[in-house]
Amino acid sequence: MKLGEIGEFGFIDRITDMFGDLQHEGCMGIGDDCAIIPCNEQEDYLVTTDLLIEDVHFLKHNISPEQLGYKSLAVNLSDIAAMGGLPVASFLSVSVTTDTSVEYLDAFLKGYHKLSAKYGVPLLGGDTTKSKSSMSISVTVIGKCAKGKAKLRSAAENDDIICLTGFVGDSAGGLSVLLNKLPLSKDNEQLVLCHNMPEPHINEGLWLFGYEDIHAMMDVSDGIASDLIHILKASAKSAEIDTEKLPVSGTLKKLAVKNKWNIDKLVVSGGEDYVLLLTVKNESFKKISELFRSKFKKDLYPVGTIMEGSADIKWLKAGKEINIKDHGFDHFIE
Ligand code: ADP
Ligand code: MG
Repeated sequence: MKLGEIGEFGFIDRITDMFGDLQHEGCMGIGDDCAIIPCNEQEDYLVTTDLLIEDVHFLKHNISPEQLGYKSLAVNLSDIAAMGGLPVASFLSVSVTTDTSVEYLDAFLKGYHKLSAKYGVPLLGGDTTKSKSSMSISVTVIGKCAKGKAKLRSAAENDDIICLTGFVGDSAGGLSVLLNKLPLSKDNEQLVLCHNMPEPHINEGLWLFGYEDIHAMMDVSDGIASDLIHILKASAKSAEIDTEKLPVSGTLKKLAVKNKWNIDKLVVSGGEDYVLLLTVKNESFKKISELFRSKFKKDLYPVGTIMEGSADIKWLKAGKEINIKDHGFDHFIE
C-alpha cells in the first residue's frame, strides 16, 4: 500500500495506534495542536513541533530569509495559541547546503529573532547539519498553561457557536499571487505578507483561555474544511457552517474578482491563515464576543453551530445546503 492511499492523517493514525501503549498518566500525545506534559501542581507544559522543507513548504525565491525565519517560529507559536498557552522557549534545527550564504542565514535569524522578541520567547537550543540539496527547518516550541485547562479539539458541545478570530483565505490568495507571478501591487503584496509572515494569535488564545465557556479550540493551518473535521472527529459531533458568514478580507474579495479566483475554494480549503477556530457555549457567545471586540478591536466571527452527529459538515449558502468537494491540504493525497 502506498502512503498516498492513506494520506498524512492515515499515517498519523498508525503512529497513534502503535505508540498508544506507552502513554504516561497526565500526558496527552498525538492528535491535538500540542502535546501536554505535567509540569507542577499548578501548570502543564505544552509542546509542539513543525517541519518546513524547501520546495514543499516554501520556495526560496518567493520568501525573503527574514520572512522565512519569522514564519518558521510563527507556525509553532500558533499551535501554542491554539491550546490557549503562553510560549516559554523555542528550539531551532536547520539543515543547509555548504554554499548557503552567511548573510542569508543571518537574515533568517533576524526574522526568527523579531518574532521571538515580540512574545518574549528565548531560543534555547537546536541542531545544525549539512544538507546535500535543499534547506529544512524544524522548530519546537514549549509553552505552559494552567493544569488541566488546555483548550482541546475534543471539547466541542452540542449547540456551541463555531467562531474564527480572523480572516480566512488571505494566505491562499497570497500563495496564488506568488505562484502566478502576479505583479506586487499594494493589494497583492498585502496577501503575500499574510502568506509569508503570518501572525500567531497568541494574545487572542491567552485571552480566550480565561473563559470556561470557550470549549474546543485549534488553529487553522490546513484550511477550515479540513481543520474543523479534526474538532468534529475528536468531539464526536457534526457541524453546520454558513459559508456567507466566513470572514473574508476586502482585499481578497477585490483580488478574487480581478483575477477570477474561486474565492469559495480559497476561503474554505486554503490553509496557513493561522487564525483560531473555536467553539463557544451558545448562551455565552454574545457576552464573550462583545468583550473580545472591546479587547482586540476586531470581531470574533460566528460561522456555524456544533450539532449531534458524526464528524461531517453541512455547508450552507443562502439557507441552502451546498456541496464542498475540496477538503483542505493533505501532504500525501494529490
Ligand atoms: P498541526 O497542523 O496543528 O501542527 P498536524 O496536523 O501537523 O498538527 O498533526 C496532527 C497531530 O499529529 C499532532 O498532534 C502532531 O503532533 C501529530 N503528528 C504528526 N506527525 C507525527 C509524527 N511523525 N509522529 C508523531 N506524531 C505526529
Ligand atoms: Mg495546529
